Amino acid sequence: MLQVNDIHTYYGESHALQGVSIELKAGETVCLLGRNGAGKSTTLKSIVGWTPARRGQILFNGKDITRLAPYQIARQGIGLVPEDRRVFASLTVKENLEVARYIRPGVQPKWSVERILDEYPMLAELANRDAGNLSGGQQQMLAVARSLMCEPELLLLDEPNEGLAPVIVKQIGALIDALRDTTTILFTDQSVHFALQHAERAYILEKGRVVHSATSQDLKDDVETHQRYLSVA
Ligand code: ATP
Repeated sequence: MLQVNDIHTYYGESHALQGVSIELKAGETVCLLGRNGAGKSTTLKSIVGWTPARRGQILFNGKDITRLAPYQIARQGIGLVPEDRRVFASLTVKENLEVARYIRPGVQPKWSVERILDEYPMLAELANRDAGNLSGGQQQMLAVARSLMCEPELLLLDEPNEGLAPVIVKQIGALIDALRDTTTILFTDQSVHFALQHAERAYILEKGRVVHSATSQDLKDDVETHQRYLSVA
């Protein structure tokens, strides 16, 4: 479904991604791991065109999306939930969902505001609350739910657990598990524990390069790799 081939991305003259290649098959849940500044966010942002790759190629369902504008990439069926969530603070939860609605031509819609509120009672309880007044965890749930309103085939989640309490991290994990049946997912994380629980396999990035790739099963007991490339938290 997704093929990222040797991409190089820059911030000005700073060479952030130095030849990243990753691949996802339809239905997979994959994690991008790596310490602070390794290039995880930049990889996701390159896929969706926010920081376009200067070299290399990105194919989605066989189509070259490397040079498309972000809105065109979104319309191909790729959704990104960025690290800072970007919910509309002055809109209610329900309005946040409503304004995000986009149905791609030829796609049978799976999601609606009603279905989301039905499946996520936590959001239903908050439906009329301004998003700006929600906790970080509630905003994260909303941000993920909002991305579903565009009916993504591929969902990119940038550090969905960042700064959240353990009880919320569990809920985010449950949300990922529930979505895996219908959506292909690529998420990022700094620590290995959550990834092992919720992804089938992982790529590890360091200094803008993929330095390791393994199934969660293999990564589980690979203490040397944990110590070398990952934070232990
Ligand atoms: P984090 O967990 O901190 O987000 P990350 O693995 O997602 O880490 P990136 O945010 O992709 O890493 O950063 C990769 C490199 O690009 C780092 O060296 C970082 O300092 C640099 N970088 C990221 N954003 C910018 C920016 N807006 N301008 C300049 N350099 C940036």
